[in-house]
Amino acid sequence: MTGRPPHTAAPGESPAEPAAATGADSRVAALSLAALLVIGALMGSANLLVDGVLRDGPAPWAYGTTMLALLLLGADLASRRRIGRLQTVALVLLGDLTYLVVVLCIADPLRYATPLMLLFPSLAAAWFLDLRPLCVHLFVTTAVCVAALWPSYDSTLGLLVQAGVSACTLNAAAVGVFVLRRRVQRLLAATQALSRRDPLTGLHNRRYLDEQAPRLWRQARREGTSVSALVLDLDHFKQLNDEFGHAVGDSVLGAVAGALSATVRPADLLARTGGEELVVLGAVGDVAEARRLAERLRTAVSAVRSPDGHAVTASVGVAVARPADGEDPVARLWRLVDRADIAMYEAKRGGRDRVAEAVSDLPRALGVRVQESART
Ligand code: GH3
Ligand code: MG
Ligand code: MG
Repeated sequence: MTGRPPHTAAPGESPAEPAAATGADSRVAALSLAALLVIGALMGSANLLVDGVLRDGPAPWAYGTTMLALLLLGADLASRRRIGRLQTVALVLLGDLTYLVVVLCIADPLRYATPLMLLFPSLAAAWFLDLRPLCVHLFVTTAVCVAALWPSYDSTLGLLVQAGVSACTLNAAAVGVFVLRRRVQRLLAATQALSRRDPLTGLHNRRYLDEQAPRLWRQARREGTSVSALVLDLDHFKQLNDEFGHAVGDSVLGAVAGALSATVRPADLLARTGGEELVVLGAVGDVAEARRLAERLRTAVSAVRSPDGHAVTASVGVAVARPADGEDPVARLWRLVDRADIAMYEAKRGGRDRVAEAVSDLPRALGVRVQESART
């Protein structure tokens, strides 16, 4: 495998760090927190049915109101199916504080409201919070454990030991789940990044073009520019393999990938879509600009030398389209690539190492014009 070409930065692609929260993440968080709220409220409400669990006086009312509030909050969250980062932090801390209210209402917290109840907010925090709010939650959990167990212990040492054991158990579970989650997210991000790469050249692949097509199409539509597709196919590559072996062919491919990466414009999308076939997509003002870019790429390939001195040329097909509203960007883009592909074959027929341009959507025989000046 060759070294990674410079044209490898991709928007939203960062294997080292977990991906940012998406709409789907927000939905999962909202529904999971809603489920935790409803389950917690229903389980907690069972205490209302057992005599002697709650203190006398206003405690049953305060307790019942708290359970009802949790239930309504859960139902509201389930119906909205969306929650922001700050709201998630607030809800987790509310869960911690709700445990305090429960402890104040219950006659014998050690029997009926153990700190194990804090496992609900702890798991939510571990799964949905970033590191800093998670640390706040760990601190609040410890403080709540001390406050909740305070009335049940006469000695300070006994209180500190029991509160410490409870807080450590809960916090260790939260940190463990958090670390696991980060590892899974990193693994997922790395796998996703790999699935968009061609392992031989390090260039992007067809899947990446599919993913990026809508963005490119929308941007060109917004800015009133056209989209160009360039298809490059290396000339007589089979012959090179046959003469010098596949390892040499591979090293030439790697060198070509590096040269193209260095030549395309930063916003262009470059991908290896087949064996010795590469595609460049990008916004252009007009056909002439696309043709100039194609010519630059052709020249860059012909200047390439593999580490052991082998050279190659490329035939390049160019097609340009102007995006319109209501089109399927992916389908439209691959139709554009098909046109560039037809033009590329015309460049082969014209003698190779040249650029051919698809001038319209007309049938192949009429819709291709070979640049006579291309061969150098
Ligand atoms: P043309 O100028 O008409 O394109 O001729 P060509 O020989 O390049 O085209 P052809 O389609 O006949 O052969 C393509 C060759 O590309 C065949 C295959 O061995 C080679 N190839 C495809 N993928 C790889 C690869 O990953 N590594 C190497 N070394 N060769 C590859
Ligand atoms: Mg080919
Ligand atoms: Mg070829």
